[in-house]
Amino acid sequence: AVVVGRRVRSRRKWKRVVGVLKELEESCETTVGRLRQVVDAMAVEMHAGLASEGGSKLKMLLTFVDNLPSGSEKGTCYALDLGGTNFRVLRVELGGQRSSILDQDVVRQPIPQQLMTGSSEDLFDFIASSLQQFDENAIDFEKSSIRKELGFTFSFPVKQTSVSSGILIKWTKGFAIKDMVGEEVAGALQHALDRKGLNMRVAVLVNDTVGTLALGHYHDADTVAAVIIGTGTNACYWERTDAIIKCQGLLTTSGGMVVNMEWGNFWSSHLPRTSYDIELDAESPNSNDQGFEKMISGMYLGDIVRRVILKMSQESDIFGPVSPSLSMPFSLRTPLMAVMHEDDSPELTEVARILKNVLEIPDVPLKARKLVVKVCDVVTRRAARLAAAGIVGILKKIGRDGSSGITGGRSRSDIKMRRTVVAIEGSLYTQYTMFREYLHEALHEILGEDIAQHVILKVTEDGSGVGAALLAASHSSKSVDNIQ
Ligand code: BGC
Ligand code: MG
Repeated sequence: AVVVGRRVRSRRKWKRVVGVLKELEESCETTVGRLRQVVDAMAVEMHAGLASEGGSKLKMLLTFVDNLPSGSEKGTCYALDLGGTNFRVLRVELGGQRSSILDQDVVRQPIPQQLMTGSSEDLFDFIASSLQQFDENAIDFEKSSIRKELGFTFSFPVKQTSVSSGILIKWTKGFAIKDMVGEEVAGALQHALDRKGLNMRVAVLVNDTVGTLALGHYHDADTVAAVIIGTGTNACYWERTDAIIKCQGLLTTSGGMVVNMEWGNFWSSHLPRTSYDIELDAESPNSNDQGFEKMISGMYLGDIVRRVILKMSQESDIFGPVSPSLSMPFSLRTPLMAVMHEDDSPELTEVARILKNVLEIPDVPLKARKLVVKVCDVVTRRAARLAAAGIVGILKKIGRDGSSGITGGRSRSDIKMRRTVVAIEGSLYTQYTMFREYLHEALHEILGEDIAQHVILKVTEDGSGVGAALLAASHSSKSVDNIQ
């Protein structure tokens, strides 16, 4: 009777845990039908954000980048890339012909945690010091009478006042330096450079998506949009100025401008939201903000998974007593989640190792380890499919999704679809194979093969930084002087 009782208890406990998984799967559902609703909502919000200031949760920010690098850029330019987990300094030597980057040098370093929440002066002094150390010829560099041009990639929502200046609207991704919000960003950097005696000028201030679009377009002129899926997520694209209704009379020689969507803040009732998302949002420093980002980007995916495992652990003892690490926000980082997800060993030894070493849950039976992999799968699949829907939303807005022009009984396959390139960057897309595959799969499902074959996602390595250097070159005071 004792044995039977134990078996019944064990069966009940598994039932409860499987129930948690079932519920997760249902609330994360992303059928093609639902993804199409997200596509439509994205396109509608893009229109609304362009129509009036504050017209949508999508800010659709002006960038003042009204010309993408042509290829004629020449000389040495520098760039700083701030906004993800790592901070980068770059030097790029340009040959004056399309795709002729002669030399390129990158140094990455993690941003000390305390600088992300300290004062703006400390942050910018740190950045300026890194720049100073970067150049071996630092002494020459300081004394040099030739002023160096610098592209500053600052990957947060900025209200630009020109191509080289702008005001920080809010922080995202765990940054929280209060005295910076509402302040001029390029000016703060310029002051720090001046304090260090560096003879450099901030020639452009750009979002990372804009840098990525610039490099993408430099290599391939069919590039119309750029997407970042890393610590955070966002997209930008080339828009006609007459479609930017909130800015009447905006004139550019090219007739267009890059628009920074800030899609991380996109929201729609069609998004499949779970109780874990609601809790994660409520406990975050920026609740009610960046809703799309919190379902998609690398900063959050691991923590959604942690919350599901915690729930399973509370519902039953298949993970033993509830581990304190499991209750700790962000104890499971997304790169480790990816390792668990992609563990193809029969015994799931990587999963066991991470559960034990990172989440302090030892001796998890194989059956439960399989469940953990399944949770990672559900969370990543939803993220990747939503990102795909976002991309198609942009294509729809610019008439590259194959839906416009269906008239007179012509079928989708009869429509001449132009080759359309989307530049893409970010660790989730480049490092997490399952994420990338789910994204591609969804893109094909939503668009259909006929259209999808014309849409190319192209990785632009270090695009956010190199692109900023390119833009700095085309906006350097020298080229401005030439015009005058
Ligand atoms: C920021 C964007 C940025 C994106 C990717 C988001 O949190 O708001 O400006 O482009 O992260 O880095
Ligand atoms: Mg980045």
